[in-house]
Amino acid sequence: MPAAHPLVIVGASYAGVQLAASARELGFEERILIVGDEVHAPYQRPPLSKGLLTGKTTLDQLPLRGPDFFEQNRIELLLGRRAEALDAGARSVTLDDGAVLDYGWLALATGARCRPFTLPGSNLDGVLDLRTLDDALRVAQAAERTQRACVIGGGFIGLEVASALRARGVAVTVIEAQPHLLARAFPPAMSAFVENVHRRRGVELLTGRGVRALHGDQGRVAAVELDDGRRIDCDLVVLGIGVLPNAELAQQAGLAVDNGIVVDMLGRTSAPRVLAAGDVANMALPPAPGAPARVRLESIQAANDGARALASLIVGHERPCTAVPWFWSDQFDLKFQMTGLPAQGDEVVLRGDMASDRFSVFYLRGGTLVAAHSVNRPAEHMLSRKLIGARARFTAGQLADESFDLKSAPTTALEAATS
Ligand SMILES: Cc1cc2nc3c(=O)[nH]c(=O)nc-3n(C[C@H](O)[C@H](O)[C@H](O)COP(=O)(O)OP(=O)(O)OC[C@H]3O[C@@H](n4cnc5c(N)ncnc54)[C@H](O)[C@@H]3O)c2cc1C
Repeated sequence: MPAAHPLVIVGASYAGVQLAASARELGFEERILIVGDEVHAPYQRPPLSKGLLTGKTTLDQLPLRGPDFFEQNRIELLLGRRAEALDAGARSVTLDDGAVLDYGWLALATGARCRPFTLPGSNLDGVLDLRTLDDALRVAQAAERTQRACVIGGGFIGLEVASALRARGVAVTVIEAQPHLLARAFPPAMSAFVENVHRRRGVELLTGRGVRALHGDQGRVAAVELDDGRRIDCDLVVLGIGVLPNAELAQQAGLAVDNGIVVDMLGRTSAPRVLAAGDVANMALPPAPGAPARVRLESIQAANDGARALASLIVGHERPCTAVPWFWSDQFDLKFQMTGLPAQGDEVVLRGDMASDRFSVFYLRGGTLVAAHSVNRPAEHMLSRKLIGARARFTAGQLADESFDLKSAPTTALEAATS
């Protein structure tokens, strides 16, 4: 009775589409439905803060899959439809038009949304979020007219927007409440490097400064007021203040939720036959010294690998998601590539010269490589992913010595590191 046990996926983006694709690849034959509340066919998000704003990426380059992919794989896309309620006991999901979908398996791939900005003036025209394609089109359109923009929040997305706007000749101020940019992600020397990159290219950086209010002129934003009373004139404000996981559907259904939907290493939630992956999932990690018990990652890799684990589970093969995390950020002419969990590290080692804009920062724990941040060194990033997975061991001196061949380090699985 195949039709009685469909896989229903809520969220038509990376995690949802990868799950559907992997389930078909692994031989899942029953019906697959993906419900997505955006009207666009699934698309890539990284270019929204990069190439789409500089003009290097065009709209026709955004689709996540080719035009025939969904039909060929018998994946039904219900776009512009929102899942409003989950009844985990009855195994059904109710959509905003009243339709009820019964499921054999349900996957919540609802991602994240921009953290609300609630200060006075937040509703003025020209104050824009950036999460969806529609958001990005608004920012791109505003970027064509603006002379002077403020970016609130100096995280990866805020800094990508700042670099894209600078590349268009816009005067940009980035306002960051923490004393340093990317202070949670990077060690102080790396934060200082990023700050230098932006300042050298003409971005005004105001760190350790809060925003008190936004002020308008005839309904349109005209200035940002800082907590010290200083006003920065601008006609565009882009918000990059982080995201919140879209976990309400799970929460209202009584599933365990704590900074996202709580899942085990297989992607199982606290409700039978309900799974979750991607930005919304707070996933258990295998025990490792210094590692947190669980982590909610916001990256394409985590969404795709999490989804592959769900697909395996659905076809009966339990395959824990233990992939080494990685993600990237493009700012000006620099490619930042990050892998592993830096929080595990107890020693930080620089390899290369920061002044050359080509280097890596490695994190060791008790001599084992646990994370690496590379700038304009894609080959070293790729190798680092393998070395972290293989638990390669180094001394700080070896890592810092550019003549030392990283592939020669002892690992518990050398083939994995050198293949
Ligand atoms: C501007 C930008 C740039 C980025 N750049 C990078 C990068 O360079 N590298 C990188 O690794 N990552 C990057 N990311 C992060 C990456 O895009 C996310 O990690 C990834 O999109 C997560 O995929 P997901 O499928 O979990 O969720 P999402 O992509 O957030 O998709 C979830 C979808 O579910 C929908 N949805 C939510 N609730 C419901 C509901 N109840 N019913 C129906 N639909 C619902 C949402 O509207 C959304 O369409 C970037 C993100 C943004 C916004």
